[in-house]
Amino acid sequence: MPCQTNGDLQLIVEEAKKYTKLGKVADYIPELGKANPGDLSIAIHYPDGRCISAGDIDKKITLQSISKVISLALVLMERGNRYVFERVGMEPTGDPFNSIAKLETMPAKPLNPMINAGALVVTHMIKGDTVEERFNRLLGFIRELADDPSIGYCERIASSELEAADLNRALCYFLKQHNIIKEDVEILLDLYTKQCAIEMNCLDLARIGMIFAMDGMDPLNGKRIMPDDVARICKTFMVTCGMYNASGEFAIKIGIPAKSGVSGGIMGSVPGKFGIGIFGPALDEKGNSVAGLKLLEFLSKNYRLSMF
Ligand code: GLU
Repeated sequence: MPCQTNGDLQLIVEEAKKYTKLGKVADYIPELGKANPGDLSIAIHYPDGRCISAGDIDKKITLQSISKVISLALVLMERGNRYVFERVGMEPTGDPFNSIAKLETMPAKPLNPMINAGALVVTHMIKGDTVEERFNRLLGFIRELADDPSIGYCERIASSELEAADLNRALCYFLKQHNIIKEDVEILLDLYTKQCAIEMNCLDLARIGMIFAMDGMDPLNGKRIMPDDVARICKTFMVTCGMYNASGEFAIKIGIPAKSGVSGGIMGSVPGKFGIGIFGPALDEKGNSVAGLKLLEFLSKNYRLSMF
């Protein structure tokens, strides 16, 4: 079913767009710095297949940190909860996404899978013998979630990040010294930067949000894509640490499971109702899409979306 442009949604986007001026695109990954800060688009995907949108929803977004939720779901399925949570914790940090600070407060196990240190450990756990095999496993899972076999990754953004990834490199070496990761750091970074560079449009993103909202079930083909327990764990992390160190404020003001990325994407899952995909590359100082947050705030207030 094609996505319908929606007048009400368009009005909210126009209003929220004013806030793009307050943000800045991420440029620590040089290729991301080329995004247009004035962009803002949204798609909402319902479990009955309906989809409404506003803005240019054909623009492709790289997942960046949004991929962390999906790689977590995959490793929970491949390895089981016990194995995963022996290596990465469940607590929010209150620190920026790329902070190294808490790793020094022993044990060195990262506090959660949504910060970079924890996400690197999760990516390390993806099964397979080569980067290609592991990446294809993740990509296959993502294509299944979005029901879009054309999803791929942006090589330019992956290699731009790989060249500029010294902070993530440092996190990996620290984790390796403490025996939490055991593979070659460059191999892990190659896989991680490709994972972050997986790209799709808002509609795909909204569909993936919808699968999490429906507890891992694809209502459109009746297929269970992940156990409900895995979807539940992922949504809980989205609530407690999905919006970086603004997750508490987000829970109060908006109150839905969501995950953002430095590309300006936000994936939202309104439990039992629908999935949301947003693209707005101008970021606030904590790394969240500044207009994307406003848009969600308007939606949450108007349609009483908060789960609290
Ligand atoms: N690839 C990015 C990094 O690791 C993801 C960060 C993010 O989106 O928060 O720096």
